[in-house]
Amino acid sequence: MEQPKTYENYPCWIMIISNFVSIAIYLIGAFIISRIGFIWLGIYVLYILGFEIRLMKHHCVNCYYYGKYCAFGKGKLSSLLFKKGGSDKFLKKEITWKSMLPDFLISLVPLIAGVILLILNFSWLLLILIVILVILTSVGNGFIRGSLACKYCKQREIGCPAEQLFNKNKK
Ligand code: SF4
Repeated sequence: MEQPKTYENYPCWIMIISNFVSIAIYLIGAFIISRIGFIWLGIYVLYILGFEIRLMKHHCVNCYYYGKYCAFGKGKLSSLLFKKGGSDKFLKKEITWKSMLPDFLISLVPLIAGVILLILNFSWLLLILIVILVILTSVGNGFIRGSLACKYCKQREIGCPAEQLFNKNKK
């Protein structure tokens, strides 16, 4: 069967794989942070919640997939929680590596914490989790973006500043 050029609604299997990678990153990050203390774990969990809400409230509402199933299902979820924005806002949004920092911190903070914990008190479990976290954040996210999400995205055809930033770097 021929693959569609873009999806109007992404199939369930893509949403499952895409969310699996994100949730695995969150869970591994949370486990590593919990080793420092439960207050830090609470801060980390709140940060992730805030990050996801901010994404849906300020970005997904302006996306083509608002009200539809995007690669992560968030277009649908955001339409249940927030009012529709405007597609012009999506196109005008300037995305730079600096503005992506809140995104990177979700993996970067547990990675730094994990390496410090390893130096202070070596543990194979921690080392394995750090390696998995690095793989999921780099190869895993790259695969989701390149082969599943952006590849079949209608918003990419209309224009997506984030995708343009990633592609600019590949050239
Ligand atoms: S092109 Fe990629 S980053 Fe942009 S909206 Fe589509 S899936 Fe998201």
